[in-house]
Amino acid sequence: SNRIMLGPLVAAIDQGTSSTRFLVSRILRTCHRVVVELSGWHADNDWRVLRALANMCGFSMQKQQSFSVTIRLRSNRAFLKRVWLDLRTQSTVERLINKTPGRNKNHLKHKTGLPISTYFSAVKLRWLMDNVERVHEAVLSHRAMFGTVDSWLIWKSGPLTGVPISGCLGDQSAALVGQMCFKDGQAKNTYGTGCFLLKNVGTKPVMSDHGLLTTVAYKLGRDKPACYALEGSVAIAGAVVRWLKDNLGIIQTSTELEKLAADVGTSYGCYFVPAFSGLYAPYWEPSARGIICGLTQFTNRSHLAFAAHEANAKGCSNLFQILDAMNQDSGIHLSQLQVDGGMTSNRLLMQLQADILCIPVVKPSMPETTALGAAMAAGAAEGVSVWSLNPEDLTEVTSEKFEPQINPEESELRYARWKKAVQRAMNWET
Ligand code: ADP
Repeated sequence: SNRIMLGPLVAAIDQGTSSTRFLVSRILRTCHRVVVELSGWHADNDWRVLRALANMCGFSMQKQQSFSVTIRLRSNRAFLKRVWLDLRTQSTVERLINKTPGRNKNHLKHKTGLPISTYFSAVKLRWLMDNVERVHEAVLSHRAMFGTVDSWLIWKSGPLTGVPISGCLGDQSAALVGQMCFKDGQAKNTYGTGCFLLKNVGTKPVMSDHGLLTTVAYKLGRDKPACYALEGSVAIAGAVVRWLKDNLGIIQTSTELEKLAADVGTSYGCYFVPAFSGLYAPYWEPSARGIICGLTQFTNRSHLAFAAHEANAKGCSNLFQILDAMNQDSGIHLSQLQVDGGMTSNRLLMQLQADILCIPVVKPSMPETTALGAAMAAGAAEGVSVWSLNPEDLTEVTSEKFEPQINPEESELRYARWKKAVQRAMNWET
């Protein structure tokens, strides 16, 4: 449409856990999109893959076209492979917590916004220094470099001579921007390998007493203030689909899971807590492990598939309720939830989410909100800005809305039972 501003091209890379996405866009209009599923990490290949993607898109690396990067913020495999779900740092985490007064995992939260957990980069760095001789020696001789994957990609971006890298955002922040959640109180949830619910809290960081993280959301423009967000993170979401596919073999493709679950439309009393890497928000319990309970002779793989859907929807509503409770203090209610990520193609999951939350779940038709957010950040820096569009242009961004269709009582009962299963997952050994 000619109502959409046609400006210079902006390219964005969204480096996720399961995939690399490369997008060339005029703001709000995707021109080319390539998605490459990653089956494992090969650090040295990543940049080559991205270059190949750029070529496939016919994106010539010319001046005035800016480049933006959005990256899984909390993985730090820039120079050695360590991803966020990696649990090897658990002993380091325990040692650090033991050193704090009152064994308090939130001891550093007022400074970092984060609990001491296997999830975050600093602990992974400590682990590498303590356990990998090469790293230890490199640190001693000042040869070690450390960075999250975004710094690695930028570090490797020599071949893009002449193309300014104008924006760099953590993946969740990028999705918040791509979902246009610029107002205090707007929230989005990304369903990828894990689930990440972020709410914009404005220009002052807000601390949560209920297990949410405080994080920088974005800073768009040199003279603009930084905006902050509260984040609720669920470690395993899409990863459970992969587990059912690769480890149990009960489905051949991710999309089959939805059909299987829709066939029965119930878990028949089965509850699934996929705490494979401990539990993240709001529990931060690294020793939690996965649990499937309520099995009967009658339970089959369809019920398990449905239970997996419910687990994802309920894990997210748990966090949403905490966010909403915090909102109520400030008098702002979350009236809808913006969603994105690979798993949102699962309509059953989106409907379940709307049913449990009792508010509409809104999915933009442009699926690459993370890459779009990164492109918008780069665009803003280069004067190609979504804010220069007319408000009517923004309404042209279409979306799909899942309205709640619920039986609140039944929903409450199943939610309470699921929470019991979560308690079991946390204490299954005792
Ligand atoms: P990431 O950004 O973490 O790399 P993506 O947003 O690419 O993740 O989402 C990929 C995840 O979504 C995979 O774990 C996959 O199993 C899951 N997934 C994709 N399609 C579906 C579907 N139709 N139903 C359920 N899960 C899905």
